[in-house]
Amino acid sequence: MTDKISAATTTSVLPHNRLGINYRAVPPRKISGLIIDAHTHTREPALTREFLRAADAYGIGRIWTMAPLEDVEALREAFPGRFEFIAIPKWQNLSAGEEFVKEWRRRIDEFYTHGSRLIKFHNAPGTQKRMGMNLDHPEMQSIMRQAYDLGYHFMTHVGDPKAWFGEGKKYDPKDGHKSFIEQFAMLDRMLEKYPDRVHLGAHIGGSVEELGNLQIRLDRFPHYIVDSSATKWIIRGIAQQPLEPVREFFIRNQDRILFGSDLVVGEKYDFDHYASRYWVHQQQWETDYFGESPIDDPDAEKGIPQLHGLNLPAEVLEKLYRTNAEKWLFGKVLRESSVSC
Ligand SMILES: [Zn+2]
Repeated sequence: MTDKISAATTTSVLPHNRLGINYRAVPPRKISGLIIDAHTHTREPALTREFLRAADAYGIGRIWTMAPLEDVEALREAFPGRFEFIAIPKWQNLSAGEEFVKEWRRRIDEFYTHGSRLIKFHNAPGTQKRMGMNLDHPEMQSIMRQAYDLGYHFMTHVGDPKAWFGEGKKYDPKDGHKSFIEQFAMLDRMLEKYPDRVHLGAHIGGSVEELGNLQIRLDRFPHYIVDSSATKWIIRGIAQQPLEPVREFFIRNQDRILFGSDLVVGEKYDFDHYASRYWVHQQQWETDYFGESPIDDPDAEKGIPQLHGLNLPAEVLEKLYRTNAEKWLFGKVLRESSVSC
């Protein structure tokens, strides 16, 4: 069936469709009902509209977004009830040093008045370097405290693909970068410090290639949950490992993993680009697809991206797609009163 598809049989070279798939023909879903996407980056309504066409086609209902503060009200007005907003800094100001921090503090307050209760700390090695601060930095600690005192819950991106760490790689220790494993020590300290808040770890907690370490973190911190976002990274990380232990991990932690796409809205993207991510995620979680991925991936082994479906049971999909987000994000994060996790 699907495993017969090969790039060699098609002339398509589109980076989001190297197999020439008709993304408008949405495969039947294993379970019914709308899906919650817990991780996206949308923008103003005019650009976001095309993304929503793909989301609609793939049965995505409510969406959590890291849209800029300037787009929050317009998105809310254009698409009532569709979006929840995650507080982020003004990334274009990143090089502005003190000004960036001052502006971020202001935005934390403003996002809060707009109803945001989840704040994202992006502290992958590259961002850490550009910002000149890691999560342990006193300034960052004080920003976190401000958010905590307001009542925010936390979201972090601290890891990056394991293939990017090491000598001669993007995160070379010679340039002052910590190792893949060391990167997570600051996350553990943050998790220890705020046990009474939900903490969402983006991209399988940055640990899809190290699920054993992630299991230890999940067992140690009951308030820690993760999302499935970052399509290329997650499907590559899964396809590189024996499938059965990965499947067992997803079943064992079925109450702690939320569906997310990490789709980024932009001028250069069309329906097929957006749909390609949802198509691949569907194959990844719902089917036993075993073959090449239609999405180009520069980090793929031998340059050929692989997709190995986990074919998760329907009751696990129900949690991944919907009830975990309802429980953790709509239940705990958006609940006004103080939270015990
Ligand atoms: Zn993201």
